[in-house]
This record gives sequence, structure tokens and C-alpha cells, in this order.
Amino acid sequence: MDKPSNQKNKVFAKKEVNPILKTTQEIAEKIAQHPDCNTYMPLSAGIESTAALLYAVKDPDMKPFCVHWYEQRYGLFADAMAFYTQKQAEYFNLPYGNDRSMLSMLPYTQEVPIIVSGLSSFMSMCIAQPGGIKFKWFMMGANAEDDMRMRLQFREYRKIMATYVSDSLDGTGVDLAKTIDGIPQVINPLDFLTKAEMYALIIREAPELLDTIWSCIAPKGTLKDRDGKITGYVPCGECFKCAELLHAKKQAADAVFRYQEGVKYFTTILKDMEGS
Ligand SMILES: [Zn+2]
Repeated sequence: MDKPSNQKNKVFAKKEVNPILKTTQEIAEKIAQHPDCNTYMPLSAGIESTAALLYAVKDPDMKPFCVHWYEQRYGLFADAMAFYTQKQAEYFNLPYGNDRSMLSMLPYTQEVPIIVSGLSSFMSMCIAQPGGIKFKWFMMGANAEDDMRMRLQFREYRKIMATYVSDSLDGTGVDLAKTIDGIPQVINPLDFLTKAEMYALIIREAPELLDTIWSCIAPKGTLKDRDGKITGYVPCGECFKCAELLHAKKQAADAVFRYQEGVKYFTTILKDMEGS
């Protein structure tokens, strides 16, 4: 995950505690309350994880538990992602946990990428015994244009977990039964789609979610109702993530598909582009 360059090395130590945030332990306890859940569904409110969420919701075998890896250091950007990922989980009435374990906040580290702290927290929950989570799948939302880093990182984490549960010092001793039983498969079921194609998928499958997509790394502020309750965040419209989103929308609007399918798709995306 990218971070705003102007916030480099800055630590945001907020006084008030966001009540939706949980420690890894609290997340594990919450997952235990949902024994039917079999899918760990990390959400960032970006296009890719939103598309992956749609897949998990529509797949009859998957019962997702939604998790957002909260990173306090990112300030308003982190709050916006926490806000919109919770909205997405609520939209589908799914259990949700907002992990604030924040391993990267250790005082002696300058920077630990959120993917590392998030995966460490996930790994801890999987291999913790007793009480480790029993999930079949770990959902991933990279698009066809993304680089290989995330995919490769996941592979090594699974290997660490598999050798651990097998009590083996290297991969030659991996216990198949224990791996099947204890180590979730990482799946990236829409990795053949570009960002724009995923955006179009969201328009067709759940246009209501368009208002919950968030990717701006430098929000300008919050929207509040009369009671002072936050109802949304304002994107900057200038950062590279805002540019990526706009580009995806334009590409989706230019799709050949709209000529095949006609009015509804086209009007939906035009409406959304007016709002961006
Ligand atoms: Zn922006």
C-alpha cells in the first residue's frame, strides 16, 4: 500500500480511539463468533478488493469475514479506508473487523509496510493454537496490471505457516493433511481483469458500492451531518491514486461492452463520472 509522501515518517498519535478498531486478538475472538465464516476477506475499499468482495459474496461456497488493516500513521487516509470498508461489509451484512494491531508502530522501526503487518497478524491468527482461525480461503484482489510482489509475498507466508504446522525446518517435511487443514489457500479469482474492467464489473453487479470505493491517499477533509457524525470523505482529485481511479472510469466508459449492452451500463457510468 502506498503512503502519501508528505506524511513520510510522521506518526499520527490520535488521542481519541476509533471504536471500530480492534486488536488482532479481538479480531480472532470476533471470528470465533462466526464459525460459518471460511474466507478471510481483506478490504481496502479500492477497486480490486471491492471486486474480490463481490466475488466472495456471490460464490455460494464462500462465507467472508471482512477485515481492514488499519494503519494509523496514514491519518485521514486510514480513517477514510476504515470508514468505507466498514460500509461495504455492512452493505452485504457481513461480519467485519478493523485490525489496528499496527506492528509498524513499533517505536524502533521507521517503516513496516502494511502488507507485512497485516499478513503477520493474519498468520498469527491462523497458526495460534488453541483457537486459531480455520479458514479455507484468503481472498486477494490484485488486478491483471499489478506487479508480482503481492503474489510472491503471499507464497512465502503460506510456506512459513505450512512448515510451522508441520513442525518441519524446511519444505521437504511439509505435512499435507496439516496444510490442508490449517493453511488457507490464497485465491485471486479475478486476476485476469484490469482495474477498469473490475470497475465495470462493480457497476454491473453492485452500482450501490460505487459510493464506497476509496483510493485517494490525501483526503481533503470529511463530510459531516448536522450532528457532527462523519458521513464521508473528500478525495483530493490530484494524487496518483485519484488519477488511477479517473483513468479506470474513463476506460470503463469507453468499453466495447457498452455498445453491446446499451443504455443502462452507459448511463450508470456517466452518472458516476459526473460525480468524480
Ligand atoms: Zn487523491
